[in-house]
Amino acid sequence: MKLYNTLTKQVEEFIPHEEGVVRLYTCGPTVYHFAHIGNLRTYIFEDILEKGLKYLGYQVKRVMNITDVGHLTSDSDTGEDKMLKGAEREGKTVYEIAQFYTNAFFEDCRKLNIRKPDIVEPASHHIDTYIEMISKMLEDGYAYLSNGNVYFDVSKAKNYYQLSGKNPEDLMVGVRDTVEEDKSKKNPADFVLWFTDSKFKNQDMRWDSPWGVGYPGWHIECSGISGKYLGEYLDIHCGGIDNIFPHHTNEIAQSEAYFGHKWCNYWVHGEHLNDQTGKMSKSNGEFLTLSLLEQKGYDPLSYRYFCLGSHYRNQLVFSYEALDQAENAYQKLKNRIRKLDRTPDLHEEKIDVYQEKMKEAISNDLNTSSMLTLVYDVLKDETLTDFTKLYLIENFDQVLSLNLIEEEIEVDQNLEKYILEKIEERNLAKKDKNYALADAIREELLKKGIRLVDSREGTTYEML
Ligand code: AMP
Ligand code: ZN
Repeated sequence: MKLYNTLTKQVEEFIPHEEGVVRLYTCGPTVYHFAHIGNLRTYIFEDILEKGLKYLGYQVKRVMNITDVGHLTSDSDTGEDKMLKGAEREGKTVYEIAQFYTNAFFEDCRKLNIRKPDIVEPASHHIDTYIEMISKMLEDGYAYLSNGNVYFDVSKAKNYYQLSGKNPEDLMVGVRDTVEEDKSKKNPADFVLWFTDSKFKNQDMRWDSPWGVGYPGWHIECSGISGKYLGEYLDIHCGGIDNIFPHHTNEIAQSEAYFGHKWCNYWVHGEHLNDQTGKMSKSNGEFLTLSLLEQKGYDPLSYRYFCLGSHYRNQLVFSYEALDQAENAYQKLKNRIRKLDRTPDLHEEKIDVYQEKMKEAISNDLNTSSMLTLVYDVLKDETLTDFTKLYLIENFDQVLSLNLIEEEIEVDQNLEKYILEKIEERNLAKKDKNYALADAIREELLKKGIRLVDSREGTTYEML
């Protein structure tokens, strides 16, 4: 498996800490509003990564947080609290907002066939873990108290700028541009681990801590939840590119300070989906949600197909014309598959070659467009029986998750299984000379439109 690693800025062979096992952490949504389809692009890419790794035979242990506390309107420590803003906007409590938008997020995921990670943890459930980590960082001199807040001292971190490729001067410019410079920090890039003295006095989510009543900064939640469930060695950490700085940069600083060694080897980031005006936003212009696309008549899986058509490391520009094209291609593809003959006739010797190609596409830094091309190649291959095509497409769909094989075939497969079981039951009845039961089974199937045909070779069936 080859993956582009933001840490080293190159495509690398992926080697997990434990053979055959991948410990994967993906940052979850900030649940103050609906996810926009840009956010969902990132979750689609992470879903493909998880399923691709499984296809290659890895056992994947994946954890995701839900950000329900600490994320301010800027990704650093300035601006308003996003959750509080959501609560004020809707006249609800922060807890109600968090619950509502967490449910809405997973509903979007369900529609897009994004598998829910095995472990999903709200940030607000792990306050003790953050307090323990922050206490240790204070003891070890990585953190300091100033004006009531606890800050991480970035001058103590090794390679603080490696992930982002930034340098301290870049940051100075950034800080000077920020209106609300925090005078309590030793270095401009220092970030808050725990807020007590803050302008958000009416913060609903507050907890007691050794430093006073307050709440955690945004970054500590991912270090805390990841460490708690995946241990001190992480294999892959994902997010959208905007997470590289400061969020992931700060996660590395804290986790490595706390654990005392390198923490995560591979950092994999998805490029953004932009609208035609540029950055996708939840406040300006049309707020592009999955529900909006549905209201306009699109199948959510057309959006998934649209995303899979381009590589996760390329920017993608959303337009309705582009989505129309994707929807068209996707529906045509499903129609072609629908027409395949489902008579069981599997040519096993043809399967391996194609499955190897699928593995190559996955291993090539998650080449989703090659994965899609492979589906078309299978359909075009005249040496394959229709049933073999169906088999392969269903197999690829474990990763693509585009519902390429519709329910019918499952029903068909179940039906086939049911008929074969009935034939077996009837054979046993005949063997026991229980002809009444054998005839009853024949009648029962006939009523369902299935005729049994006995011959010297055994019993087969035909659909009426
Ligand atoms: P948030 O809910 O703001 O914490 O973001 C959820 C995820 O969406 C994060 O992994 C972000 O990096 C990602 N993200 C934010 N904006 C975009 C975008 N326009 N395109 C793709 N991913 C995005
Ligand atoms: Zn995170």
